[in-house]
Amino acid sequence: MITFQELGLNQDLLNAITDLGFTKPSEVQEKAIPALLNEERDLVALAQTGTGKTAAFGFPMLQKIDVNSRTTQGLILSPTRELCLQITNELKLYGKYCKGLNVVAVYGGASITEQAKQIKKGAQIIVATPGRMKDMISRKLVDISKIEYSVLDEADEMLNMGFYEDITDILSYTPEDKSTWLFSATMPKEVAAIARKFMYDPIEITVGNRNESTNQVSHEYYLVNGRDRYLALKRLADANPDIFSVIFCRTKRDTQKVAEKLVEDGYSAGALHGDLSQNQRDLVMKAFRNKQIQMLVATDVAARGIDVDDITHVINYQLPDEIETYTHRSGRTGRAGKTGVSMVIVAKSEVRKIKSIERIIKKQFEKKDMPSGMEICEVQLMSLANKMHNTEINHEIDAFLDSINELFEDTSKEELIKKFFSVEFSRFYDYYKKAKDLAVTDSSEGGDRAPSNNETRYFINVGRKDGYDWMSLKDFIKEVLELGRDDVFKVDVKDSFSFFNTDKSMEKRVLDFFTDFKYNDRFVNVEITENKGGGRRDRSGRGKKRNDSKRGGRRSSDSGNRSERVGRRSGGPKSDRRRSGSGSDRPRRSRRK
Ligand code: AMP
Repeated sequence: MITFQELGLNQDLLNAITDLGFTKPSEVQEKAIPALLNEERDLVALAQTGTGKTAAFGFPMLQKIDVNSRTTQGLILSPTRELCLQITNELKLYGKYCKGLNVVAVYGGASITEQAKQIKKGAQIIVATPGRMKDMISRKLVDISKIEYSVLDEADEMLNMGFYEDITDILSYTPEDKSTWLFSATMPKEVAAIARKFMYDPIEITVGNRNESTNQVSHEYYLVNGRDRYLALKRLADANPDIFSVIFCRTKRDTQKVAEKLVEDGYSAGALHGDLSQNQRDLVMKAFRNKQIQMLVATDVAARGIDVDDITHVINYQLPDEIETYTHRSGRTGRAGKTGVSMVIVAKSEVRKIKSIERIIKKQFEKKDMPSGMEICEVQLMSLANKMHNTEINHEIDAFLDSINELFEDTSKEELIKKFFSVEFSRFYDYYKKAKDLAVTDSSEGGDRAPSNNETRYFINVGRKDGYDWMSLKDFIKEVLELGRDDVFKVDVKDSFSFFNTDKSMEKRVLDFFTDFKYNDRFVNVEITENKGGGRRDRSGRGKKRNDSKRGGRRSSDSGNRSERVGRRSGGPKSDRRRSGSGSDRPRRSRRK
């Protein structure tokens, strides 16, 4: 076994390493540290968070800089404020015996003058986010013209976040002959291009797909109808009573909405995304770290740099646009030697993405069935029984025991236990006995949904003539009704009218909303039709469109589809349009600490 001493680190660093309790170098450290200490070379390392990469560049940089000089010699660029602070703290720990060392973090959302003041005191190392760094350079608050070492940390993520221009700009203020060390979890062509542009003959290092911890993460996917995503999420949470998780959504809006719905339904959840102020984000993170929040709903960008070690589950509420991002997401769990599960809620049309992810992570997903209502009830009951069994008795209760005993005088132990557990059990049971089955088979093709009794099909009096296609009409309906992206489906646009479906539970909300609804000075009328509009193919394999074209040579005819007869006109008072549509569909649960 190779030791830190054998890597060539000096005594100050070795002392700090002893204090930190690191016993042996990680793979990336073993490969990078001697190379960087012995040569003035560029480096490209494929390594993820959790592999010990901060120390892999941090130790050599700390050893090589001159702490007696006040000149800035090292610049580390990182994608987010959280990561920037994390790296700064790590470097301070690693360099605690390097007398005179000053590492300064430079990031947005905090006082720029205060940061400039810190730098002026003589910062040998600056750890910065690209946006704030550019700002500092343009205000001449920092001088990076003499740096000898630059690090691009999580380069793929910085590029994902659109920092290419900023990075290029910043590096143009640094000397040509500095060494550049690039760390990235993935190597898309954009990162390879950066490496080519800014580096000369770099040492290349790849560390196994995360050390130790990757093997601790298992990957599962659950196939559901896209519009049942939220119900599926709740079911996954209910089936794992002690869940401590990050839930990833694709957009800030979905992130906020899912978190709000979870809170409304009694879960301890919070949102983390870029539309929140820094202060709000700090508060959410603090609550999450303290486990006051069990489910943190986050965007990919906001979740970068979360260094919470005991996350039990990562739930992909939606898959990321860039499948490479999945690696970052699943890496939030299974840290520090613990096991973790990365779950993906997928609609049929996304199953092929799972295959692509499997190729990237070089691991197989397990296709799991959504737990049934009764399974969840059982899990909840047994979890409660276990908690009860392990609970220490609080003797403050003793004073009230007489009255309680009196009340239960005629109740047997067995009956008492049954009654006690029924309190909690009934809450889940009452909900799940009515809840629909979320199971979906992946046998049918192309993501077409089978007609279902849980769907309502509507007629709407706008169509192609009004400038809509199926996507823009779907967007319009979603927007005005404030629905999620999967809540409106089977949108079929004709010349002067169209059809669409929603879940039956949303029927009232849709009809109420469109009562007397005017758009662009025109009444938009929505009515229920009898046809469910399920699937485009009939049993003989002849599609409706083909029949239409046979009849009249037109690809789609309004008259042909008028068979979707209008059933009932909308009516009743307008509902509160801001209210969430999930009202009837949730088990309320007590907040957990
Ligand atoms: P990083 O990949 O830099 O985000 O590091 C992940 C965590 O591993 C940090 O909390 C480090 O303090 C810790 N760490 C780094 N190197 C070692 C090591 N050789 N042994 C044990 N822990 C380490």
